[in-house]
Amino acid sequence: MKTDWLIVGAGFTGCTLAERIASVLDRRVLIVERRDHIGGNAYDFLNHYGLIIHKYGPHIFHTDSRKVWDYLSRFTNWRSYEHHVLAEVEGQKIPLPFNLNSLRVLFPTKHADRLEDLLIGTYGYGVKVPILKLFEATVGDLRELANYIHEWIFSGYTKKQWGLETKELDPSVLERVPVFICRDNRYFQDPYQGVPEAGYTDMFRRMVVHPRIKLLLGYDYHDIWKDIQFDNLVYTGSIDSFFSNIHGELPFRSLRFDFNTLEQEFYQEVATVNYPNRFDFTRITEQKYITGQVVPKTTLITEYPQRYMPGHNEPFYPIPRVENEKVYQLYKQEAKKLKGSVIFAGRLADYRYYDMDDAVARALSVFEEEVLTRL
Ligand code: FAD
Ligand code: UDP
Repeated sequence: MKTDWLIVGAGFTGCTLAERIASVLDRRVLIVERRDHIGGNAYDFLNHYGLIIHKYGPHIFHTDSRKVWDYLSRFTNWRSYEHHVLAEVEGQKIPLPFNLNSLRVLFPTKHADRLEDLLIGTYGYGVKVPILKLFEATVGDLRELANYIHEWIFSGYTKKQWGLETKELDPSVLERVPVFICRDNRYFQDPYQGVPEAGYTDMFRRMVVHPRIKLLLGYDYHDIWKDIQFDNLVYTGSIDSFFSNIHGELPFRSLRFDFNTLEQEFYQEVATVNYPNRFDFTRITEQKYITGQVVPKTTLITEYPQRYMPGHNEPFYPIPRVENEKVYQLYKQEAKKLKGSVIFAGRLADYRYYDMDDAVARALSVFEEEVLTRL
């Protein structure tokens, strides 16, 4: 088999690069994907009850990048959707990220008033304060609040999700869900939020339906690369696997998903309810809130964190912490030795906790800075 570009992985990164190379450069692209579908971890499908299900956990698209939004909008219309999450704390359900409304659910009015004044006075209204930053507060009541939030929201959830204490992770992980000094209950504040109207898989199909793009599904690159003649290679799998783990395995975290369909129209108040301190799962998501479908039944996705076991489950999350970054840097040095003959990009290859928009932004910049410049 012959191609100009071989792309390993049919997720956001691989499909964006394939689309750009085929459409702009009119070059032949072969995408090799080890799973039997396109879309990577954003793949979705219609279940028996007519509900669009995100096979690898709930995916909500959100970005502040007009460029990324406009790019994907060529391949899909959007269902406008703003995500809401509640966390179960001391038997109550509070808005997440923790905000001024959360305070009022948990504390008596007088105490909530005082904490609210302190938060606004110290940081300002509308400001996002990472939990680890709140620990540095000089006022005792705010430090106590930090302890409370840490104990009830972050500590147990993080232990389940990562198998680690919060202090063992890079602070950027908890910064994804900061304390928000505001009454805005949305999980994300990005200007562009939604889900592809006909699902992610439909959008991916439109990205790769091009006479210059061919797909080889169900094949691992390592098993077939010798049978393919290619001039250029993009690798979006995990970088350690490309180099046969010579510096050891990069750790990832995995999940098991349970899908349950109930004979009722709705199950919970919002799309996602987190259980930081109860059960051995982290969260339950009710898909129909996200897709907006009107169906008499409802399907729930429950997420059980797991150790990543190559060959048995998927490497869903890179684990951001100092020792892992050191190993990643060793692989980056290996990549440098290849002098640009292989392009590494994506959540697995860059070993970065990318959201979908980050993956697209990275792919678009790789196209502009590393592909176009080869011509
Ligand atoms: P991937 O989607 O992982 O694609 C890489 C592909 O390469 C995979 O399909 C893999 O099978 C394939 N591959 C790897 N090695 C090989 C090989 N050797 N040969 C052939 N194929 C190979 N982001 C958001 O913005 N919003 C969300 O709500 C959100 N929710 C998420 C929920 C969960 C549970 C998870 C795990 C992630 C979530 N994300 C979310 C992140 C999002 O999934 C990623 O940002 C995005 O999928 C990254 O795309 P990618 O192409 O870099 O990687
Ligand atoms: N987190 C937490 N409790 C929560 C929600 C999040 O401790 O109720 C922490 C946890 O460490 C989690 C991280 O914040 O892994 C990032 O949360 P996010 O919702 O962004 O995770 P993702 O959707 O990527 O799984």
